[in-house]
Amino acid sequence: MKAVVFHAVGDIRLDDVPDPKVQQPSDAVVKLTASAICGTDLHFVRGTMAGMKPGTVLGHEGVGIVEEVGGDVRNLRPGDRVVVGSTIGCGFCSYCRAGYYAQCDTTEPAGGTAFFGGPEAAGAYDGMQAEAVRVPFGGINCVKLPDEVTDDQAIMISDIFPTGFFGAKLAEVSRGDTVCVFGAGPVGIFAVISARLEGAGRILCVDRHPDRLDLAREQGAETVNFDEEDPIDAIARLTGGIGPDRVIDAVGVEAERPHRGPAAGRTETPDAEFSAEVSQTAPEANPDGELWQPGGAPTMALRWAVRSVAKAGTIAIIGVYPPQVQAFPIGEAMNKNLTLKMGNCNHRRYIPELIDIVRAGVIDPDQVLTKREGITSAIEAYEHFDRRETGWTKVELEPVG
Ligand SMILES: [Zn+2]
Ligand SMILES: [Zn+2]
Repeated sequence: MKAVVFHAVGDIRLDDVPDPKVQQPSDAVVKLTASAICGTDLHFVRGTMAGMKPGTVLGHEGVGIVEEVGGDVRNLRPGDRVVVGSTIGCGFCSYCRAGYYAQCDTTEPAGGTAFFGGPEAAGAYDGMQAEAVRVPFGGINCVKLPDEVTDDQAIMISDIFPTGFFGAKLAEVSRGDTVCVFGAGPVGIFAVISARLEGAGRILCVDRHPDRLDLAREQGAETVNFDEEDPIDAIARLTGGIGPDRVIDAVGVEAERPHRGPAAGRTETPDAEFSAEVSQTAPEANPDGELWQPGGAPTMALRWAVRSVAKAGTIAIIGVYPPQVQAFPIGEAMNKNLTLKMGNCNHRRYIPELIDIVRAGVIDPDQVLTKREGITSAIEAYEHFDRRETGWTKVELEPVG
């Protein structure tokens, strides 16, 4: 079958690889009808997140048809249409039972989060930018789709909608709250949508890309472009000097440098200090020399979050930080009595609920989808997405022609 395979930093290819097979009685094999490219994939390709094993199939978002199941998969039959969650849980350990699928003891016993198409520390499970995928614990990690939910909608429920929803839950968004979402990428947009679902009174959204800010405004957010104004000043002014009650960091570690615009000056010095503080892993080859080393990138969105949030407010971190990042303005947070919550999304915990929300027509998640490409154009699609070209905010891949 065709699959997008990681070879090295800056080197991914569309290769022919062996078809996946049921290996364990709890496995399912799913023939994919939709996959997608995610910002997280770019961190692996750029080397800002290290540890990818050459030969790993990329991609952690998928929708498809069950092709084969092992004997211990009792809730699925070949032919069932399913969405596959990005993280891999077993469904029976104490963490999965408590809803912490991203901390499953069985699929990632060494700690961390097991997910498709990720580095060795995440289990090096082959991903879903392919024609088919082996899903460990298929009965848990595949969720059946009703006919009313289309593939374009369902692919959003594989990762980015649950992650945004998880962000709103972590941030403790409740009725009437003023919420600020940093990052208007696909996850940020779903954080805006989810804050609305949780009853937020006002939602601000900060980014630098006008097309992404347009998407945020379409979802009811008040937007701040940090290339045009200082975001801390703008947020303070828009909230009467008080700040938002809840902040969601949907950016994580930055993948690109350098920073321009009014925001650059205020953080340049701390960035340098913070970069020096973090432990550097072996530098990866950076194809264009413009990328941060693993662990060396600044965490500006997070520092803006601490600076801008109201006293006694809550910050949720759903953007991705590699384990090497050690820096955080803890003193500032402590002296503001902040609550901090963070983590990798427990996709499986939210997917059934989100399927119901989409089926009921409350939210149409495919509004966030901006491009559809065949898998044979996957490498080109990565390049457009990597350059953050206008209109390439969320890219769906169609593995079956
Ligand atoms: Zn993703
Ligand atoms: Zn588990």
